[in-house]
Amino acid sequence: MSNEIPDSESPYQVLLYYRYVPIEDPEAYAKEHRALCESLSLRGRIIVGDEGINGTVSGTTAETNRYMESMHGDPLTTEMEFKVDPAGEHTFPKLSIKVREEIVTLGLDESTDIDPNEITGERLSPREFYEAMQQEDVVVIDGRNDYEAELGHFKGAICPPIGNFREFPDWLRENASQLEGKKILTYCTGGIRCEKLSGFLRKEGFEDVYQLDGGIVKYGKDPEVQGRDFEGLCYVFDQRVEVEVNRTETRKIITHCRHCGVEQPHYGNCRWPSCNEQIFVCPDCREKQSLYCGASCREAHGKELVAKQVAASQVE
Ligand SMILES: [Zn+2]
Ligand SMILES: [Zn+2]
Repeated sequence: MSNEIPDSESPYQVLLYYRYVPIEDPEAYAKEHRALCESLSLRGRIIVGDEGINGTVSGTTAETNRYMESMHGDPLTTEMEFKVDPAGEHTFPKLSIKVREEIVTLGLDESTDIDPNEITGERLSPREFYEAMQQEDVVVIDGRNDYEAELGHFKGAICPPIGNFREFPDWLRENASQLEGKKILTYCTGGIRCEKLSGFLRKEGFEDVYQLDGGIVKYGKDPEVQGRDFEGLCYVFDQRVEVEVNRTETRKIITHCRHCGVEQPHYGNCRWPSCNEQIFVCPDCREKQSLYCGASCREAHGKELVAKQVAASQVE
């Protein structure tokens, strides 16, 4: 887990970045971009659309630095802001570059879609966000999926029961009365989801809407706030799964082993492939009863394995 202070001597780096900028021919851009990434042996996930680019990649420190230089040399992405994490190795198994309608999918159609260059919440620096959280009549909304928020979130934040980002518009409309007259703060991992989420809120008529610029990742790296009042760990969509955020005395783990209740900060997947749910199970319980949600998943998996063996023996 990367809980150490960024260290330029680490052999690898993980980059997280996005930019809303018109791209005329996303297919051609993606093709050229693939050639660049392949020449630098980068791995990760990049989404390109006519509204911009959204990516997270891993690579050696030298090659990720070259990538950032190359992006800054391109007029389209001169101002791209990269969040950089040191790493001991690649954090992605392969490279994927896709062209999509939206670079983060809120599922809005052409008439309701948000262009964050036209409408979005006011951006707050980590320090401004921290100060705003202390005020009264403020609601803080976690703009991520429920399983991300379960691992860690800001103290006192509302964590909506959302399994996919595109469920947000409906949830916000259903719960609009809770938000009326309040100052609304939104945050997400790296900031991209809030560009649209806070824009959506403004379009729905809320006026006092703010977003955490650079997201949780930048908030954790800020030398002044140092992740203060973020509780738990931050979920990331690569092989690390979770990263540290809070480097102050307010750091704590908020997740527990589902079997015995001890603190358990790392997610695992239930071993029954048909379940595969992300769950918290401590090392002791893993050893005693393996990594299952509970008896029903263990028994179901056992039956499946036996049935497979029987089927295989009948073939012979
Ligand atoms: Zn346990
Ligand atoms: Zn299960």
